[in-house]
Amino acid sequence: MTFIFYLILFTHLFIMKKLLLLSGLLFFLSCTVTVNRKKTVANLQETFIPNGKLFTALFQQQAAEYKALCLQSYNMATIRLQQYVKSTDKPLVIVTDVDETVLDNSPFAVHQGLMGKEYEPEAWYEWTSLAKADTVPGAPSFLKFAASKGVQVFYITNREERERAATIKNLSNYDLPNADDKHLLLKSTTSGKEGRRQQVANDYEIAMFIGDNLADFTDLFDKKTPQRRSNIVSSLQAQWGDKFIVIPNTNYGDWEGALFNYNYKLSSHERDSIYRTILKSY
Ligand SMILES: [Mg+2]
Repeated sequence: MTFIFYLILFTHLFIMKKLLLLSGLLFFLSCTVTVNRKKTVANLQETFIPNGKLFTALFQQQAAEYKALCLQSYNMATIRLQQYVKSTDKPLVIVTDVDETVLDNSPFAVHQGLMGKEYEPEAWYEWTSLAKADTVPGAPSFLKFAASKGVQVFYITNREERERAATIKNLSNYDLPNADDKHLLLKSTTSGKEGRRQQVANDYEIAMFIGDNLADFTDLFDKKTPQRRSNIVSSLQAQWGDKFIVIPNTNYGDWEGALFNYNYKLSSHERDSIYRTILKSY
C-alpha cells in the first residue's frame, strides 16, 4: 500500500510540475505578445507623421502623375495669360508663391523624415541657405513665357528676411524673371499674405495668383477650419484654373494646419491622435 501511495504521490507531483511549467510558458508568451503589440502601436504612433511626410515627398519626387498635375496647372496658366494679355492694354503682373509652387523643397522633407523628424526652423534655414532647391515642373517655362509677354512676376512668400539672398540666388540659378529685391515680398510681421497682395495690387493689375496653399489666393482662407475651407473652395469654383492656379502639395500646408486648428505648439503625438480621430475607415 505504501508503495502505491508513493507512486500516486510521485505521479501527481510530476504532473503538477509539468502543469506549472506549461502555465509559466503560456504566461511568458502572452506577456511577449502584449509587449510586442504595444511596441508596434507605439512605433506606428512615433512614425505616423514622419512616414507620411516621407511618402508624400516620394510622390512629389517620383510620381509622373505629380509632374503631370503641375504641367496641367501651368498649361492652364499659360492659356489664361495669353487670353488676358490680349484683352487689356494695362501692364499686367503675376503673383506667385515660391515654395512648392516654383521651388521644390522635397529633399528637405526627406532629410527630416529619414531622421524621424518634420519641419524645424533651423533645419529649414540650413536647407534654404544652400539655394539648391530644384524647380516645380512647368514653373520656369511659364514664368519665362510671362516675362516674354512683358508681364512682371512678384514672388510673395513666407520665407523670412534672413533667407532673402539665398532665395534670390536659388531663383536666379534657373534664370527666373524678376528674381530681385523689388519683386520678392518676404514675411515680415504676419504670415497672412493679403497685405502684400494689396501692396502689389495698388500699383499693378494682377492677372493671376499661383500657389500650393489656399492662403496664396485670398485671405478668405486664412485660419479657417477644414469644413469652411472646403465650402469656400466650392463658392469660388469659377476661379480655379482661371484667376487662381493651384499646384499640388500633399506634404504640408494649411490643409494640414487646419486639422489641428493651426496650433503648432501641439506635439506630433498630439497631432497624430487628432489625425486618427478624423481618418475615415469602414
Ligand atoms: Mg508654398
